[in-house]
Amino acid sequence: MISQQDCRQRDADDPLRTLRDLFDLPPGVIYLDGNSLGALPRAVPARVAHVVAQQWGQDLIKSWNSAGWFALPRRVGDRIAPLIGAGGGEVVATDTTSINLYKVLSAALNIAAQDAPGRRTIVSERSNFPTDLYIAEALCRERGCTLKLIEPHEVAASLTPDVAVLMLTHVNYRTGAMHDMAAVTAAAHAAGALVVWDLCHSAGAVPVDLSGAQADFAVGCGYKYLNGGPGAPAFVWVHPRHVARCWQPLAGWWGHAQPFAFTPDYQPAMDITRYQCGTQPIVSLSALDCALDVFTAADQLGGMAALRAKSLALTDLFIDAVEALCPGAFTLVTPREHARRGSQVCLTPTAQLPAGSAYAIVQALIARGVIGDFRAGDAQQPDILRFGFTPLYLSFDNVLGAAQALAEVVRTREYAQARFHHKQAVT
Ligand SMILES: *Cc1c(COP(=O)(O)O)cnc(C)c1O
Repeated sequence: MISQQDCRQRDADDPLRTLRDLFDLPPGVIYLDGNSLGALPRAVPARVAHVVAQQWGQDLIKSWNSAGWFALPRRVGDRIAPLIGAGGGEVVATDTTSINLYKVLSAALNIAAQDAPGRRTIVSERSNFPTDLYIAEALCRERGCTLKLIEPHEVAASLTPDVAVLMLTHVNYRTGAMHDMAAVTAAAHAAGALVVWDLCHSAGAVPVDLSGAQADFAVGCGYKYLNGGPGAPAFVWVHPRHVARCWQPLAGWWGHAQPFAFTPDYQPAMDITRYQCGTQPIVSLSALDCALDVFTAADQLGGMAALRAKSLALTDLFIDAVEALCPGAFTLVTPREHARRGSQVCLTPTAQLPAGSAYAIVQALIARGVIGDFRAGDAQQPDILRFGFTPLYLSFDNVLGAAQALAEVVRTREYAQARFHHKQAVT
């Protein structure tokens, strides 16, 4: 097993090591939850203070023009675009993932209704993030369509002639398993279906090539690996071949071709701007804009390819260290195969540990300054301990430290303490 000295050497040799200095992380904390809420980039507080005190406080309404507020969703979208293999002018940062999913799913059904009217089924995975399923279910009720839920290995078999849209999350939020975007998109197209990709656990974490895959629609999150802050705006992408073909359902004035003409009738913008709805949270958008400077810095050091290489090295190290230090205590839920692994590692306790101990183990780790999270299981899937590995600010030494802390929690049975069993509202 790799030693602490080896880890420190790997950190010293890591070309991305300077990126950590761009973040304000509390001392002593090993943060393995950047897949839920990205850490705070150091430059963000000053940017937010400037937007509030100067742009809002002093420049008042002039800032819509002078500070570029009105164009901010598109400007931020243009900065996210290269991270997901989209072109300039093809992405807007706006609203939430849930809301953007509603827009693109509805648009996809509209396109299917024109091209293949018999197709009225949306397919997704049972283990998808629940909000994706709730939005799809609500839309199906509204449209009289059917939502069909499948297991990850059933994707190819699910593409029957009734399927209008395949809606998948690229990297599963629980397991960290990653789909082959190009292969799945090609299979769906060959079967006559459109594909909506949710990139919440991909954008900023793994290289994504929407254009190369010829994907149809995508949405994703601003507050996870993009570090935009709690509730940061999400993003939406539509392939240019579809963008002007139909309205999206939330046809607010920010999606109008000429919002300041104030005409009573709706004329949608001809580009991705039509996927905007109403007035956007400028302070949050500014924080996200500033947070993306970290990726500009990463570009100088090899960009997403270098981040991916480090992410795989970090997750490999964690898997090896947990298996060496906690033998038999956990089953690895995340695929070992690099091509199928996102940037997180999920474990489920084995029968060596008391039933229902996953939550308390995570709480005991948090008390030791190792922050991961817990996701409850159900009849189909086990409780899991979830650890996100953000190559922007994690070191090899951190990863070994996290595995050692986990081993200590297991060895000392710290998880049995009553204080670690109290469930809070957010897990
Ligand atoms: C985090 C996440 C979301 C969050 O959606 P919000 O609208 O921001 O609450 C949605 N889908 C997936 C797959 C996620 O991982």
